[in-house]
Amino acid sequence: MTSPFAYARATDEQDAVRLAAQPGTAFLAGGTDFLPLWKAGLAAPSRVIDIGRLALDRIEVRDDVVVIGALARLADAAGHPSIRRELPGLAQALLASASPQVRNMATVGGNLMQRTRCYYFYDPAFPQCNKRNPGSGCGALQGYNRIHAILGQSEQCIATNPSDMNVALAALDAVVRVQGPKGEREIPIADFHRLPGSTPNVDTNLKEDELITAVDLPATPFATRSHYLKMRDRASYAFAIVSVAAAIEIDAGNKITAVRLALGGVAHKPWRAQKAEQQLLGKTADGKTFQAAAEEELAAAKGYAHNEFKIELAKRSIVRALTTVMGMPS
Ligand code: SF4
Repeated sequence: MTSPFAYARATDEQDAVRLAAQPGTAFLAGGTDFLPLWKAGLAAPSRVIDIGRLALDRIEVRDDVVVIGALARLADAAGHPSIRRELPGLAQALLASASPQVRNMATVGGNLMQRTRCYYFYDPAFPQCNKRNPGSGCGALQGYNRIHAILGQSEQCIATNPSDMNVALAALDAVVRVQGPKGEREIPIADFHRLPGSTPNVDTNLKEDELITAVDLPATPFATRSHYLKMRDRASYAFAIVSVAAAIEIDAGNKITAVRLALGGVAHKPWRAQKAEQQLLGKTADGKTFQAAAEEELAAAKGYAHNEFKIELAKRSIVRALTTVMGMPS
C-alpha cells in the first residue's frame, strides 16, 4: 500500500525547484516509468510535485541547435519535421521506444530518468539488489542475467539503461539543461548517466532538487545520415537486447571523416563507442573496417552465464548499423 504523500502542482520552473527543496520529493509528468515504480514500492515519495502543466513541451529549431523541451512527448519529438529530416537516427530511436500509447504520454525528461528493467530490481521481495537496497548484493551476478551489461559494469551491479532515446542522444552529443536552486546548468549527456561503480543506487548526476528543462542537440550536419538499430525479442514491444545509434560522414574518396557510434542494452549508461570511432576515422568505409572497429570496441566486454551472446550480437549490430547508414548491401 502506498504511504501517505503530499501533492502540489508547480506553477513554473522556479516554483517546481522551490517545492523540490524538501527531501523525499518526486516530480511527476507523464508518469509512464515513475507510476509503475511507485506502485511496485520502488519509489516512496513523501511529496509529489506535478510538473505536467509547465510550459516545457516545445520543440524549437534555433540557428545551430534543436531544443527539445523536457515535457515534449516522445511521439511529438519523433514526428517533428526537423528531427525527422535532420536527425533521422533520433526519430527512429524514439519510434522504437515502447508502444504508441506510451509514446503519447512519456516525456523526454522522464525518458532520461528511466530506471533499469533488471528483474531483481523490480521485485521488492527479492533480497539481493544493491541498486534498490545498497549493500544487499547483486542477485543478477549469479542469477538470470540475459538482459544485463557486458561493458562498464561492476561487481556491485550489472544492470543496463533501458532507454532507446538515450542512445541516440549519446551519439548526438546532446546537452541536458537543468534548473536548480542556484540557477541553470548544462550537463553533457556523457556525464548525465553514471556507471554503477560502488554506488549503483545512483543512476544519474542530476541532483534531487534539480529539474530537467530541455535537451539541446547541437548541429551535427552529417547526422542527416544516421540510423538507429534495435535488436529485441519482439518487434512490437520490447526493450533492446542490443542497440546501435550510428552517424557517419565520408569524403569523395570513401574515407570516413566523421563518425558517431553509441550502444544501448550493454551498459549501465548509454555507451559511446569511442574506441570504435577512433578506429574508423580516416579509414575506408567498408565492411572490413566496420568489423575491425566493432572488434576493438568489444575487446574489453565481459559476459555472464546467460548474456555472453551479446558480445557477438553487439559486434554484428555495429557492422549492420554502419552498413545500413552507408546504404551498402548487408
Ligand atoms: Fe540490482 Fe543491479 Fe544486481 Fe540488478 S544488476 S540485481 S539492479 S544490483
